[in-house]
Amino acid sequence: MSTADLRKRFEAAFMPNYGVPPAALARGEGCRVWDADGREYLDLIAGIAVSSLGHAHPALVEAVSAQAATIAHTSNLFLNEPEVLLAERLLGLLGGDGRVFLANSGTEANEAALKLAIKYGKTNGRTYFVATENGFHGRSMGALSLTGKKAIREPFGPFAIDVRFVPYGDADALNAAVDEQCAAVFLEPTQGEAGVVPPPHGYFAEARRICDASGALFVADEIQSAIGRTGAWFAFQHENARPDVLTLAKGLGGGLPIGACVAFGGHGEIFAKGDHGSTFGGNPVSAAAALAVLDTIEKDGLLANAAAVGETLASGLDTIGHPLLKGVRGRGLWRAAVLTGPHAPAVEAAARDAGFLINALQPDALRLAPPLVLTEEQARSFTTAFPSILDAAASAVKES
Ligand SMILES: *Cc1c(COP(=O)(O)O)cnc(C)c1O
Repeated sequence: MSTADLRKRFEAAFMPNYGVPPAALARGEGCRVWDADGREYLDLIAGIAVSSLGHAHPALVEAVSAQAATIAHTSNLFLNEPEVLLAERLLGLLGGDGRVFLANSGTEANEAALKLAIKYGKTNGRTYFVATENGFHGRSMGALSLTGKKAIREPFGPFAIDVRFVPYGDADALNAAVDEQCAAVFLEPTQGEAGVVPPPHGYFAEARRICDASGALFVADEIQSAIGRTGAWFAFQHENARPDVLTLAKGLGGGLPIGACVAFGGHGEIFAKGDHGSTFGGNPVSAAAALAVLDTIEKDGLLANAAAVGETLASGLDTIGHPLLKGVRGRGLWRAAVLTGPHAPAVEAAARDAGFLINALQPDALRLAPPLVLTEEQARSFTTAFPSILDAAASAVKES
């Protein structure tokens, strides 16, 4: 089926919550993808920071195929070897003393963290939560209640839990908002959906200190930032500020659905038997995929690759002098190209016409979150093409 056919049928069959996406992707290999009409693109968004090994990576294909051919599902009535190996592997990367809950998405990982924090609060007389303006933690009712993006939150309120929002990156505001009644603080190490917005350096370490002083749980939502995205396994490592509870998803499964909630020290034992669960959580195919992702990142040195190629991408964009381009922010292979006006959709479309998939994340910001296997040469092919992409977008804007 052609892209045009698929788009028409998609529009008729699906709820309108996504609108109709511009292209249908049919297959991929490494950092390249092909649409339903056979057009080739360099994939610089990786299914929203998910396809960490790129597409059809042999290690992922082998792990998923072998596991599906052996046993694809056990439920939590039984345990399975891949889930045990994965939990141990994550704890090893995180320094040991924790416990893991496996879910199927980022939202579910945050729901688990929120339920942990609610239980922690009930046990300790702590009644409210703190999260950040413009933050994103998911769209289920629990995760949405922590989400500070007004446009997606307000249509579905009011919410059952008391969440107080503070400006992101402002340690004084955080300090003022957190007292002995606060059950937990939920923070992204860099706000992803808000536009890849890093806080001032030291903010995460300060949040750690504020939570230590007040006894509030420090929950780091690393769903978008972890598993090599910033050049480290976990973004909190850049400030050596390990949270009490950590949530993971996106890049962990390399394209297979999986989420994880890790709680450290005694917090790993907050849930008692029966407190939480998921039929698909700990699914052996997803767990095998995640193990292949972690092994490949380690074996192929992809943390160092993300750091180095991320610098190439950023410095290449930084040297472009163009009236539409204001600058670049972010770290590793997680960047936003910031524009001087609300032209991100036009730039996204012009990039696609030129054979590059990027994401108009905010009216004035484009997200780059390519596979961690992106090469220097691929990064340079984009930064070299970007000035003419901006020119094309500028004339499209002028004509409309
Ligand atoms: C994507 C994301 C989520 C939600 O994850 P889903 O897998 O879409 O449920 C939550 N928090 C952050 C920081 C995210 O980037």
